[in-house]
Amino acid sequence: MPYSKTTPPLTIRSWPNAILHVDGDSFFASVEQSLNPALKGKPLVTGQERGIASAISIEGKRLGITRGMPIGLIKKNYPECLIVSGNYEAYMAYAKRMFDILRRYTPLVEEYSIDEAFADITGMRRLLNAGYEEIGRRLQADIEKELDITVSVGISLTKTLAKLCSKFRKPHGLTCVKGGYIHILLQKNSIDKVWGIGSSISSFLRKYNCATAYDFAVKPLSFVEDHLTKKEVEIYKELRGELVYPVEINKKETYQSISKAKTFTPTRSKEHIFSQLVKNIEEATAKCRKYGLTAKELVVTFRTQQFQTYGQKAKLSRPTASSLELIPLAEILFNKCYVIGLEYRQTMCILTHLSSAKDVQLTLFDNSLTIEQLDNIDESIDDINKKFGRGAIHLLDSLPARYKVRSEFKMPTLKIVV
Ligand SMILES: [Mg+2]
Repeated sequence: MPYSKTTPPLTIRSWPNAILHVDGDSFFASVEQSLNPALKGKPLVTGQERGIASAISIEGKRLGITRGMPIGLIKKNYPECLIVSGNYEAYMAYAKRMFDILRRYTPLVEEYSIDEAFADITGMRRLLNAGYEEIGRRLQADIEKELDITVSVGISLTKTLAKLCSKFRKPHGLTCVKGGYIHILLQKNSIDKVWGIGSSISSFLRKYNCATAYDFAVKPLSFVEDHLTKKEVEIYKELRGELVYPVEINKKETYQSISKAKTFTPTRSKEHIFSQLVKNIEEATAKCRKYGLTAKELVVTFRTQQFQTYGQKAKLSRPTASSLELIPLAEILFNKCYVIGLEYRQTMCILTHLSSAKDVQLTLFDNSLTIEQLDNIDESIDDINKKFGRGAIHLLDSLPARYKVRSEFKMPTLKIVV
């Protein structure tokens, strides 16, 4: 249905809740430009190490470069485009600073992805002495001034609406839609733009004359309940301004699984590939411990330059979050997967079947004293890394992976002299 001024609003309550969504514009590329001003205003692509474009600067997008485009093709068709390898540590540092700026406005922040967060700013107008739109504008200005990157901000009644808003104008957009106007926002967005509505659901809905988000939101609830799942019912309610998904500051405590993956310059070196996996395990177990969790299952996967993935899974006799315990097991799995002569480009470690560390029950066969000693070691590792930064202390096995350029890493020779 085309937008019409006479369409009745879905709700007339202006701000029963105010949810803000912030999204970094071409985030990885913008961080690169912020770090190196010589790259500013130029078409830029990150992802050299993966062989495909992972982020594209606004200038690159204007040329027509899209995500996932092979680097070789970009070099050929867009010779003016600059290509760099991803610097994920820098992206994470920028993300942290971005989220910290957001926390100045409200403590109710949910870090949703590396460059996206939700914040509940309900009731903050008086405290900040500004309307919701003005709060969004200030946030944008702070991030721009302090990080030298731009973000798009959406503010509305629910997460689903806020996400539609932040996408509505990009880059550097600010869209703030109160209750009485959400029907207009929904009419201006096709159904597939809605967060959580995938291509199969949107093609199903199109068959039932839902071309826009509005068409879906005005269907009777019984239609949604009869034809779709609980998830779509939730989205439907959120689109109508009813808050279903609260901003979850402690969301990370309810992980189903914790995974860490790393893509690197393709290599055949067994030692280097394994060291990447060890680094994944160190990071995943540290995250597990941070949230007081232990894992009962370990999965490792390896991807080759030809995009084949090899994986192995192992159930553990007892839940753990100790890297020292998991690495020897991971090595067994690695040896089962590793094929001599193949070039590898990515390793991943997944810890699943998570449960609270408090619930771990030892059996008669477990050596409780050694387990306690390992716990103490982990605790010290976590303390040091918290104090001096992630990776300040790590296992020797992951040393090669921590060198930026692999060829730079050579173990120094140390000899016994008499
Ligand atoms: Mg983004």
